[in-house]
Amino acid sequence: MSRTTTPAALANWAGNIVFSTTELLRPATLGKLRETVAGLDRVRVLGSGHSFNTVADPGAGGALLSLDALPAEIDVDTAARTVRVGGGVRYARLAREVHAHGLALANMASLPHISVAGSVATGTHGSGAANGPLAASVREVELVTSDGSVTAVGRGDARFGGVVTSLGALGVVTALTLDLEPAFEVEQRVFTGLPLDGLDFTAVAESAYSVSLFTSWRRPVFEQVWVKHRVDDGPLVFDRAPAAAGPVHPVPGMPAVNCTEQLGVPGPWHERLPHFRAEFTPSSGDELQSEYLLPRGAALEALHALAAIREAVSPVLQVCEVRTVAGDGQWLSPSYDRDSVAVHFTWVDDTAAVLPVIARVEEALAPFAPRPHWGKVFTVPWPVLRERYPRHADFAALAAELDPRRAFRNAFVQDLLGD
Ligand SMILES: Cc1cc2nc3c(=O)[nH]c(=O)nc-3n(C[C@H](O)[C@H](O)[C@H](O)COP(=O)(O)OP(=O)(O)OC[C@H]3O[C@@H](n4cnc5c(N)ncnc54)[C@H](O)[C@@H]3O)c2cc1C
Repeated sequence: MSRTTTPAALANWAGNIVFSTTELLRPATLGKLRETVAGLDRVRVLGSGHSFNTVADPGAGGALLSLDALPAEIDVDTAARTVRVGGGVRYARLAREVHAHGLALANMASLPHISVAGSVATGTHGSGAANGPLAASVREVELVTSDGSVTAVGRGDARFGGVVTSLGALGVVTALTLDLEPAFEVEQRVFTGLPLDGLDFTAVAESAYSVSLFTSWRRPVFEQVWVKHRVDDGPLVFDRAPAAAGPVHPVPGMPAVNCTEQLGVPGPWHERLPHFRAEFTPSSGDELQSEYLLPRGAALEALHALAAIREAVSPVLQVCEVRTVAGDGQWLSPSYDRDSVAVHFTWVDDTAAVLPVIARVEEALAPFAPRPHWGKVFTVPWPVLRERYPRHADFAALAAELDPRRAFRNAFVQDLLGD
C-alpha cells in the first residue's frame, strides 16, 4: 500500500485545519483497504478535503485514509439511468462521464472539485426550490465497515436513512449508486441590485431551476442574483432586477473567468449548475465558510434578522449566498424533513476575527432552529444540535450496529453522538 507522508503537515483545502497525522494511507485495492481498516484502532477517510472543520480529522493516534489510489470506477447504466461511482471520484470527472452518455445528475454544488462520497456525507447541496441535497440522488451505498466486511445498503432498507449523510461515521464508502436523468441544457444569467425590502423570496427562489442570491451585507441588497434556467422549461422571465452587463464573480474582486458561462448562453447542465469551473480555483481560495439551513417559510424573517446585524457581519465577510434546498429523508441531513433556505457565509481567512461574528449570526438565527452545514465552521453547542435532529438516536443506534468497535469515531462524531 502506498503511504504519503508529508514532512510538515497534512491540512484541509482551506489550510485552517491541520490533521492530527502527517501520514495518508492509500490502499490500491479493495482487498488491501478491507485489511487495512480491520487492522486500525481509529480511522477516518479524507475525501477531497474541502471541509472547513475537524469532521475528517482522526485525532491523535488515528489514521487518515485516502481512496485516490483505488480504481476510479464510473459505471453508467444507460438503460437503468444510474451510475455506480467509486468512493474517491470527484464530481468534475463524474459529470463529464455521465454527460458523455447523454445523461445528467439532478443538481450540483457551487464547485465540481469535491468528491461525491465526501459531499453526500456532509449534506452538500446546490440550489433549487424542488432540488434536494446531492445525497437525494443516492440509491445505494457500499461500505467497508470496521471489521473489514463489505455491506451494501439501498433504498428500501430500513437503515438507508442513516447511511448516505453519515459524516464518515459508519465505514469507508467504496461506491455509491446514483440516479440519473436525461441530459438537459441550462442558461445562466446574473441580475444585479435586488433590495431586501419588498423581496418576494418565494417568487425569486422559484423563478428558475436553481437560484442563488448574493449579498456583501454592506447594504440590505442582493448585489447579484444567479439564475440557472433549464432551457426545456421554456423562456426565462425574470423582471425583478436589471441584468448584469457582463460576466461576474460572486466574490468581490475575483475574476469572472473562474466562473461558469453566463449571459444566457445555453450549455450542458454540468457547465452551468456549478458557479465555478473545474479548472480554476473555486470561490476566493482564501477563506472560511459557514452555512445554516432553516425552514424555508422563515426565509424573509431570517434575512431581516441578519440585516439587523450586518454592520458586525460585513467587515469579515467576503460574500453571503442564499439558496433553497428541498427537504430529504437522510436522518442527519441539515434539510431533513423540511424544505429549507440555506444561508451561506464566505468569511475572510481569519479564524479569530470570524468566530465572534459566527456566534452573532447563530444568535440572530437561533429562533429559526438552524442546522449548520456539517462541513463548515459553526459554534452551536452539540446538545442544541442534537435536538434539531429528530432521528439522531436512530443514527446513533446505526453507528453502534455498523461500527461496534468505534473505529470511525473521531471527536466530531463523538460530540455529535454524545454517548
Ligand atoms: C470552495 C468551496 C465551495 C463549497 N461549495 C459548497 C456548496 O456549494 N454547497 C455545499 O453544500 N457545500 C459546499 N462546500 C462544502 C463541501 O461541499 C463539503 O465540505 C464536502 O464535504 C466536501 O467534500 P470532500 O470530499 O472535500 O469532503 P472531506 O472534507 O474530505 O470529508 C467530509 C466528510 O466525509 C467523509 N468522507 C469523505 N469520503 C469518504 C468516504 N469515501 N467514505 C466515508 N467517509 C468519507 C470524511 O471522513 C469527512 O467526515 C464548499 C467547500 C469549498 C471549499
